[in-house]
Amino acid sequence: MTDLQTLQQTYQQYQQMNLNLNMQRGQPSDADFDLSNDLLGILNNTNTHTTSGTDLRNYPGGIRGLPEARELFASILNIHPDEILIGNNSSLALMADVLMWALLKGLVLSASPWVRERPKMIVTVPGYDRHFSLLEGLGFELVPVAMTAQGPDMDAVETLVASDASIKGIFFVPTYSNPTGDSISGEFARRLVAVNAAAVDFTIFADDAYRVHHLTDDYRPAVNLLNLSKEAGHPERVIVFASTSKITFAGAGIGFMGGSEKSMAYLSKLFSLTSIGPNKVEQYRHVKFLQAYPGGVDGLMREHAALIVPKFNAVYEVLSQELQGTNLARWTQPKGGYFISLDTHYPVASRVVELANNAGVSLTPAGATYPGGVDPNNSNIRLAPTRPDEADIRQAMKVIATCIKLASAEHVNART
Ligand code: PLP
Repeated sequence: MTDLQTLQQTYQQYQQMNLNLNMQRGQPSDADFDLSNDLLGILNNTNTHTTSGTDLRNYPGGIRGLPEARELFASILNIHPDEILIGNNSSLALMADVLMWALLKGLVLSASPWVRERPKMIVTVPGYDRHFSLLEGLGFELVPVAMTAQGPDMDAVETLVASDASIKGIFFVPTYSNPTGDSISGEFARRLVAVNAAAVDFTIFADDAYRVHHLTDDYRPAVNLLNLSKEAGHPERVIVFASTSKITFAGAGIGFMGGSEKSMAYLSKLFSLTSIGPNKVEQYRHVKFLQAYPGGVDGLMREHAALIVPKFNAVYEVLSQELQGTNLARWTQPKGGYFISLDTHYPVASRVVELANNAGVSLTPAGATYPGGVDPNNSNIRLAPTRPDEADIRQAMKVIATCIKLASAEHVNART
């Protein structure tokens, strides 16, 4: 039997197992959610007012969120409470609101609405498909640059933004990026905030969704892009977004964003045209819960890590057993975040995903980590190990490793 036939046989055995496994959902597991169940009962009918006296039931309270929530979430972003705006449950919704207002009115330093300028946005690749679809949906032309182990490819960014005033900004994940797990280094962060941009209102949209999601004790604290931008003389340049979606409840958390006081004042004024204020009950519930949690947010994140680390390790173990030394794939081993990014040696990612799906293992569609859903190398596959249990991860990874070997063998055979 040829190698290809042996692999086909192994693959068929997996197909006969009628598996139904999912490695594509970047979602917490039920055990992660259970850590925050006390959120559901932490307020009762006596908690009508916050400690500082705001009535949770009425309108007044401000567009920027409860003072208690601003203090707590500002500490997560390592910024001043005057530099934060707390929203409702989704940081993506805040990103969308800021972009929509930027298109309609411009941001704080803009001379005109962005929509008039056929705006372009730099995005890092591989990256997060929802960033791409949001930006594309709003009409931005996307300019991909590589996400390197140190952050966005700064040589490329510097060259691009110096000469093109229609590049209005960069959208990326600074900490434990989706999907590579890479974080921006201090050096690259300093280059980014100081970049010589043709657009006066060039804006750094930093989606810091995984800022506190460490998977090891030996981590480098996340960079403080806002402070660095002030030091570089561009205080209005950075807007940081984050949420508790992967801290408390993915479907019922709190989204927030940080920027200079001037920029937050500008955006608050626009936001107050569409809402009298965000949900105060949810904010206060989060404040009370996270303050009471042993060790606070850090303590909760350590408990998440204890649940998630064995799952990441299960992925590494199977990949090493099955693929180490074959040169058929390489994969990241991030120190935090939610994803592992795998690159096949041959351009077979779409075939791997197809084979895996046909054997009952669902994977993020190949290409999803690139704008327009097209990976020019057809090599990147995003693995999301947080939601399934460890046994399912091992089983799914064995299937995926077989699919990588089979797709690679098919590719090599077709060439010879
Ligand atoms: N940003 C990144 C990088 C993500 O990976 C995700 C979810 O997977 C989100 C944002 C979604 O955030 P939210 O639930 O706050 O809208």
